[in-house]
Amino acid sequence: MTAGVRLVVLGRQGAGKGTQAVRLGKQFDVPHISTGDMLRAAVAAGTEFGLRAKSVMDAGQLVSDEIMVGVVDERLHEVDAVERGYVLDGFPRTEAQALALEKITSEHPIHVVLNLEVPESVVLERITKRRVCTTCGRIYSVDAPPADPWRCDLDGGEVVQRADDTEEAVRKRLDLYAAETLPLVGFYRDRGVLCEVDGLGSPDDVFARLLAAVEAVRQS
Ligand code: AMP
Repeated sequence: MTAGVRLVVLGRQGAGKGTQAVRLGKQFDVPHISTGDMLRAAVAAGTEFGLRAKSVMDAGQLVSDEIMVGVVDERLHEVDAVERGYVLDGFPRTEAQALALEKITSEHPIHVVLNLEVPESVVLERITKRRVCTTCGRIYSVDAPPADPWRCDLDGGEVVQRADDTEEAVRKRLDLYAAETLPLVGFYRDRGVLCEVDGLGSPDDVFARLLAAVEAVRQS
């Protein structure tokens, strides 16, 4: 394997996928590419695209495959991703996206798809308790708030519940996940690039499992 590493992290919303994907990006010195973060940045920037995406996201639905594939295609062709690789987080979410990703990466295929497994009952509780800094994106929980409630420990930004983290929107996202994204586990298993990782336990334990999985592939 070359120095770079190209990873996809799959998992239910609230499985800790985002936090772990950020850590993996730092560990391997590759960009963390999160489609959710890219969409939220467009919403914050108030672009027309962002405004359209916001209503879809707040309702817990999926932005169209065509738009998402275009966004990811462009991002994966930026120089940092081409030269170093990436950790892709939140994409693909549908079979159409997975097929498009195969085409986009045909010359430099994904090394491993990590599927972070956490039962639905656990993630529902985690997500509805989740709170996030509006400035830096740091994640808190109702059970583990910042020292000064609700101001971020890092930058003093306001810590709020994401508009799409209400129980109703979360249930919708979990149903969508089961219908649209879960089949990708079989898709990648068939292609021999899937690695299933137990997502229960402390974040450090889960990260150690993810690293071990990536290292095993790097050494093969
Ligand atoms: P996330 O931060 O990954 O949970 O994404 C937040 C929201 O952005 C999702 O609930 C979707 O509405 C939208 N989104 C992010 N990635 C995708 C994608 N690959 N396909 C469709 N919609 C997406």
